[in-house]
Amino acid sequence: MKSKPRKQADGTWPTLAQQYADALDDILNEGTGNITTEIVLHVRGNGTTMDDGTPIPSTVIEHIAPASMIRTMIHDAEGKPINVSGRHRHPSTRQKRVVKERDRACVDCGTNQLLTYDHNPDYAISHRTIVDELDVRCAPCHWQRHRN
Ligand SMILES: [Zn+2]
Repeated sequence: MKSKPRKQADGTWPTLAQQYADALDDILNEGTGNITTEIVLHVRGNGTTMDDGTPIPSTVIEHIAPASMIRTMIHDAEGKPINVSGRHRHPSTRQKRVVKERDRACVDCGTNQLLTYDHNPDYAISHRTIVDELDVRCAPCHWQRHRN
């Protein structure tokens, strides 16, 4: 799929913000057939970005929001993703995404290999799975922590 900037009716080129809007609009509303496209937008107090950090002007959000199913990741004033609650032991895809966005790497050793999601405090104690009580931890550190 491709999306090219288009001249406007008056022959001028759209602003960069408008080009973003048109591209996102195309991706979300045209040409995708049966493929479900998920675009993660991080909405923070100081602006919105795509998952890779590309800034998205708020005018774009206003443009695409009415016509699209958008999953937003809302961050609080300190930039921490808000909590997503749940009672299941295994974190949901969305919870994993939020925790990974927050921690980025193993909280103990900093690697980004073999990452797991670790309940802290342990699930056996908390009986719940919430974002604030999950750490990203690599498998060796995870194992080490539960051994101690
Ligand atoms: Zn580690």
